[in-house]
Amino acid sequence: MAVRATDELLMRGRLAVLARRPRPRHLALVPELLPALLRTIRACRVCDGRLPHEPRPVVQAGAGARILVIGQAPGSKVHASGRAWDDDSGDRLRAWTGLDPVTFYDPEQVAHMPSGFCYPGKGQGGDLPPRPECAPLWHARLRAALPQVRLTLLVGQYAQKLYLPRGFAPNLTEAVRNWRTAPEGLFPLPHPAWRSRLWMARNPWFEAEALPDLRARIRGALEVPNAD
Ligand code: SF4
Repeated sequence: MAVRATDELLMRGRLAVLARRPRPRHLALVPELLPALLRTIRACRVCDGRLPHEPRPVVQAGAGARILVIGQAPGSKVHASGRAWDDDSGDRLRAWTGLDPVTFYDPEQVAHMPSGFCYPGKGQGGDLPPRPECAPLWHARLRAALPQVRLTLLVGQYAQKLYLPRGFAPNLTEAVRNWRTAPEGLFPLPHPAWRSRLWMARNPWFEAEALPDLRARIRGALEVPNAD
């Protein structure tokens, strides 16, 4: 199923609005539907033939999740294990967030919704971008089934392109540097690939100022009582 550029732009705008707006409770899917939605996502074969392998969507979500992590797309290790952020990048992301593995992998506390759910394969410069079909197809439905989310981490340029307002920042570094002025509930982060160590060395404010604020916001989001 091809996704036209105009459809993608329209959907990107809708996703950004959805992420910023507090969701009226009557618009949220009832939590009982989430398991069925997850089964449907995990059975998705839309990109069959466009991936170098069988589709294997990687997603984690529970109706009580307070933190939503929107990353790029699974890498080869995550594709093999089927577990989100099950690689060196995940180790760095957990260190940045201060989340221990038990909390990080508890779907009732943390949801993982990549920009593309399946490993897209390798290109000349590393992993290919997330499949463009994925976010327009699944994100709004899954997001609507997560009514308790208080904080959404936009990890890397693809998540930021989907959810930050157009013109928010000219590049990833500036988007992260402007984390304090991001729409409420959104926190832009660099992708925690090995290159992020070089990026952090060039941007010491990230470790000194942004990460302590990130950890405080995560603690706050996990402590807030449920809306129901
Ligand atoms: S990348 Fe997304 S749309 Fe494509 S097969 Fe995987 S789950 Fe389906």
